[in-house]
Amino acid sequence: MERIRYMSTRGAETQIEASYAILRGIAKDGGLYVPDRIPAIDMDINDMVNMSYQEIAYQVMKDYLSDFTENELKNCIRKAYDDKFDTQCIVPVVKKGDVTYLELFHGSTIAFKDMALSILPHLMTTSMKKQGIDQEVVILTATSGDTGKAALAGFADVEGTRIIVFYPKDGVSPIQEKQMVTQKGDNTYVVSIDGNFDDAQSGVKDIFTNIEFRKTLGENGFRFSSANSINIGRLLPQVVYYFYGYAQMLKQEEIKAGEAINIVVPTGNFGNILAAYYAKKMGLPVNRLICASNDNKVLYDFFRTGIYNRKRDFKLTISPSMDILISSNLERLLYEMTEFSGAQTEELMSQLNKHGEYAIKNMNEFSCFYGNYATEEETYAAIKEVYDERGYVIDPHTAVGYCVYKKFREETADERKVLLASTASPYKFTKSVMKAIDPKYNEIDDLALIDELKATSGVPVPNAIKEILEEESRHQRDCETENMQNVVASILNIEL
Ligand SMILES: *Cc1c(COP(=O)(O)O)cnc(C)c1O
Repeated sequence: MERIRYMSTRGAETQIEASYAILRGIAKDGGLYVPDRIPAIDMDINDMVNMSYQEIAYQVMKDYLSDFTENELKNCIRKAYDDKFDTQCIVPVVKKGDVTYLELFHGSTIAFKDMALSILPHLMTTSMKKQGIDQEVVILTATSGDTGKAALAGFADVEGTRIIVFYPKDGVSPIQEKQMVTQKGDNTYVVSIDGNFDDAQSGVKDIFTNIEFRKTLGENGFRFSSANSINIGRLLPQVVYYFYGYAQMLKQEEIKAGEAINIVVPTGNFGNILAAYYAKKMGLPVNRLICASNDNKVLYDFFRTGIYNRKRDFKLTISPSMDILISSNLERLLYEMTEFSGAQTEELMSQLNKHGEYAIKNMNEFSCFYGNYATEEETYAAIKEVYDERGYVIDPHTAVGYCVYKKFREETADERKVLLASTASPYKFTKSVMKAIDPKYNEIDDLALIDELKATSGVPVPNAIKEILEEESRHQRDCETENMQNVVASILNIEL
């Protein structure tokens, strides 16, 4: 069979090799790279029951990364899913009540972004070799907190790479700042800027699009790349754990061979749930994909009305990683739903850009998705309910998923078994979690509640948390927004 290549959702590029797509991140026409077909999984899912996470990762990803050799891909997997994770199985699958939780938070930064960001650096360095590029990859990232840390941890000490993270000095939480400035690795650089997140983001964008600077960089043996969530190299590794989760449900005799399940995903940028959709298309027995939003419920409105409308107030919630009004990865789904029409996808995206909204006429194609949302109050209540009934402590993002799952059951009476993507450790959000369980913790801050959470949950304090308490700060760079480019030059020892 013809091997898989990539094309842009806006139609201008086709026949792109996987390694090239991973290095570029975003397509030249501004679109996202998608595989030209979704491969069927070429083994019996029942035979995955006794396979390790790493073995399943190879089976799921090999057809997508069609220009990687078996050895290359297996090496990437081996280097990614190792003792950076605090459990040998990588992703524990635990049943509590009628929900099976897929615990995606056992990596270095105790949130699900680690699943992809621990393998992306290796996919990138391998891609460099494959493309015959003999330069060092420099990752530039602007962060409002979480992505920066996960990217730093992923790229730390990966040969042939450097990573520079910019964050707004007063725009991240004290814990997030501590997490970043204590980052180890000689190739990691953390810089605070005197502006807000948007300033950091546009500063990075300016550096990326400065052709002159790119050229100077190239002459000095460097090449910029980006680790953000639209990179196909972040999407593909996320398909893996849905197969792994299903296989574990089989192993635990929660389901029978071939039995269809429903999957619930707390959603922001639409990357994680899109990966679940890819798993379904590959042949994983999945009935509905349940898209859970918080008060920023753009996707809920979209699935109900066919209208995507970002013209609304941005709400800060206790599930901050889902506080998003533009879910970038939805573009990949739209492309499919318009039968791979680059022109139509481009048109929808340009309407969103110009008018802040677009409308889809025929929503039938989207019927395997179910959208709903949880208010702040409902999110707190969900944490408390799961704790009271099952003695299991979940984080606010996972709680949004749990709440939406309950609404789904109520509304559809669908009683299929459910797998819930558990996207962060409760230790990342100690205050919201403890406050949900008992309002008496309301006045106490996050760090002071770590021991309380340990006593309440019976779960040991993860290393990621111990580190921020014990480690010293290693990064003290700061700069004015106008000077970001100079800082990059100085870090790379380049004279401008
Ligand atoms: C990023 C993130 C999400 C949202 O995932 P998307 O792929 O952006 O939809 C949910 N929960 C947590 C904890 C996250 O970090």
